[in-house]
Amino acid sequence: MSAPAVSFEFFPPRDLEASFRLWDTVQVLAPLEPRFVSVTYGAGGTTRELTRDAVATLHKSSGLKVAAHLTCVDASREETLGIAQDFAKAGVSDIVALRGDPPKGADRFVPHAEGFADSCELISALKQSGDFTVRVGAYPDKHPEAADEQADIDWLKRKLDAGADEALTQFFFEAETFLRFRDRCAAAGITAPIVPGILPIENWKGVRNFAKRCGTPVPAWLEDAFDKAIRDEREDLLATALCAEMCDTLVGEGVDALHFYTLNRPELTRDVCFALGVTPKARLENVA
Ligand code: FAD
Repeated sequence: MSAPAVSFEFFPPRDLEASFRLWDTVQVLAPLEPRFVSVTYGAGGTTRELTRDAVATLHKSSGLKVAAHLTCVDASREETLGIAQDFAKAGVSDIVALRGDPPKGADRFVPHAEGFADSCELISALKQSGDFTVRVGAYPDKHPEAADEQADIDWLKRKLDAGADEALTQFFFEAETFLRFRDRCAAAGITAPIVPGILPIENWKGVRNFAKRCGTPVPAWLEDAFDKAIRDEREDLLATALCAEMCDTLVGEGVDALHFYTLNRPELTRDVCFALGVTPKARLENVA
């Protein structure tokens, strides 16, 4: 069984301290030779400039392939495509194209009067406006706004038919959730790569609250395991073991690429990668 390809998601730093943390994270994870690293775009477009600057700096300084997230929220078509062109001018042609979440307090997405109505419109416009590699979101546990699982997969197929090259999934807690989703995608005629999104659990309480907000069900056994691990002060050990085991099951089922949500904290992701055989390539000059 060969080691999977990996990619890493970061968020853009808001201050100097966070910039150093991101840079440290990149230093730890870059030797694992990721397929790409991606930089998120704050909800409601709140980090537009930060994302643009972080993407350009990472591209220039890290030597890694960088993908920029981009949403349709609160911007006209022209503004959104202008941002994509800024990425292209900085040498970045990989985009994670998303509709984005409704603003705080709202329960559904309302497009900007002159903006893209949905993610399919954004994907088609990106594909027509430049030579972009476009990745999109996918939801193994079903997106909270989808009528049912089939409607969600039908929508994913429309995003891929609109020109997207690959899908990155929302995180999930059990390998079977992804494997069942992969089967349903295949049955729907989806042939593009569907890459599982992996969230190493740094902070169980934070992850559990985030999962509830995203509509990702939390298995009772996991609640129980973390309650005990927190009591015994071995949360990190449990998180590493569970994440490595889930990834190992996925790789055993033929998954050849994993996308890690690092939250700009590299240690758990690095340890899980090591456990999967994703290790820094030894340089000959360092071996002799
Ligand atoms: P879509 O897939 O377009 O829509 C979500 C669901 O709603 C669909 O699965 C479908 O079931 C339904 N739906 C939507 N429109 C229609 C329609 N017209 N007809 C029928 N069904 C429809 N958010 C950020 O703000 N910034 C980020 O950087 C960011 N990065 C992300 C990265 C990944 C890998 C993922 C999975 C999510 C990310 N998100 C980010 C969150 C994302 O913005 C939210 O999940 C958002 O609610 C949906 O965006 P989407 O592009 O996946 O939506």
